[in-house]
Amino acid sequence: MKLTAISLLLAALISPALHAADKELNLYSARHYQTDEALYANFTKQTGIKINRIEAKEDELLERIRNEGAYSPADVFLTVDAARLAKADELGLFAPVKSKLLESRIPANLRTDDWFAFSTRARALIYNKDTVKPEDLRNYEDLADPKFKNQVCSRSGSHPYNLSLLSALIAQHGEQKAEAWAKGVFANFARPAKGGDTDQIKAVAAGECGVAISNTYYLVRLMRSNKPEDRAVVEKVGVIWPNQASQGVHINISGGGMLKTAPNKGAAVKFLEYLASDEAQVYFADGNNESPVVPTVKTNNAALAALGKFKADPLPIGTLAKNATLAQKIYDRVGWR
Ligand code: FE
Repeated sequence: MKLTAISLLLAALISPALHAADKELNLYSARHYQTDEALYANFTKQTGIKINRIEAKEDELLERIRNEGAYSPADVFLTVDAARLAKADELGLFAPVKSKLLESRIPANLRTDDWFAFSTRARALIYNKDTVKPEDLRNYEDLADPKFKNQVCSRSGSHPYNLSLLSALIAQHGEQKAEAWAKGVFANFARPAKGGDTDQIKAVAAGECGVAISNTYYLVRLMRSNKPEDRAVVEKVGVIWPNQASQGVHINISGGGMLKTAPNKGAAVKFLEYLASDEAQVYFADGNNESPVVPTVKTNNAALAALGKFKADPLPIGTLAKNATLAQKIYDRVGWR
């Protein structure tokens, strides 16, 4: 037997749990951005912990973790949208993580006891510069104004991004006013809800609609694209940060937590702490055009910076999640499917 094999065997005999915990991390991720590769590779380089990554759609991963039960190999679940994380939490899948580092780096409204946001994504208004006067559009509430009849484009109301937006409006105005808003916006639709956020931005540029609701990272992606057709879209549109005199722009998050059944808890906590490090935070911003959650992080994304600073809604992310079911009911009632 070689010396290394003997020492490995000894190490395994002395502390099998610790040994395993420090070498591998099983990550279930619903983030599927190419730019995240560097984010993960950098963690392995720093810690020597190998990441075994399972990628699938958000709801599929959640199902998989539930089905695997106590024997799930998953250590960390990463996904986008506050309501999805809250659902995992309600199902009792997360273990609380006590980390001074996470508490000091992530603002209190962007974390819960069990899960953490690692990036934020602002949901703003994108308008056609030829047909819409930005001074007519200061707030989300304006989208319901009859003067925007046949002008509004949006993806489905059932999409988590829109569920979270309406959840924030419910928190702000109560159920009745939130429903009146959804009804008013739906009445102003230029076309049935379809496609993703990028499709809405393109429809605005093409003049099919005057204004759309979109996460800004989709626009920044077009701004950074080398394709002439994407540049042409960007030329046509402007961005409005809504509700700057009231609660601020609605932000959603991407985030994650450690699973209760995690076999490699030490590695899981290390990974969560790594995601809040300056280096990882910069990957979120510069790679996928999201905003860091750690306020002191300096990013280097000229296109993202060009959109300017804005006031974000400080609503705790846990509250967003609580209203999501009601938000779905409201969209169903008004027909915004
Ligand atoms: Fe997205």
